[in-house]
Amino acid sequence: MGSEKITQKILLSYNAEKAGEPILATVIKETGLLLNVLHAKINSQGGEIIISVEASPEQVEGILNRFRSMGVEAKILRQTISLDRERCIDCGACISVCPTRALKFSKEWEVMLDENRCVYCKLCTEACPMRALSLTKLE
Ligand code: SF4
Ligand code: SF4
Repeated sequence: MGSEKITQKILLSYNAEKAGEPILATVIKETGLLLNVLHAKINSQGGEIIISVEASPEQVEGILNRFRSMGVEAKILRQTISLDRERCIDCGACISVCPTRALKFSKEWEVMLDENRCVYCKLCTEACPMRALSLTKLE
């Protein structure tokens, strides 16, 4: 019986030597898994890409090892974010700084958080005047 699938976010760190190589495409092709790019900040000097993947724990381990074997640092992002609706005044300050559109207004102009899109950059927690957003590290 196969393992249950989980959604994991993975931080990939590229050095200058690896930045121009089609490493992500190679891993997608080899694994056949859908690796969703949530955020990318990379140029010829190197940088970071954050991906999410829905896969079994064994497949996630395989992905991490494959990136590492090609010279890219890969680690699972073990964090969670929460929005305290009791504190939030729907000012929108967090929405304007969020790089991934994880925060947005509902039709009723209430701020909504989609954790699936969050890359835990902390920009919203710093921007919020009400301290309504908080990040927590998971074990
Ligand atoms: S910045 Fe804070 S108070 Fe303003 S909408 Fe975002 S969570 Fe709510
Ligand atoms: S930490 Fe906040 S600003 Fe950064 S991606 Fe997540 S929701 Fe957006």
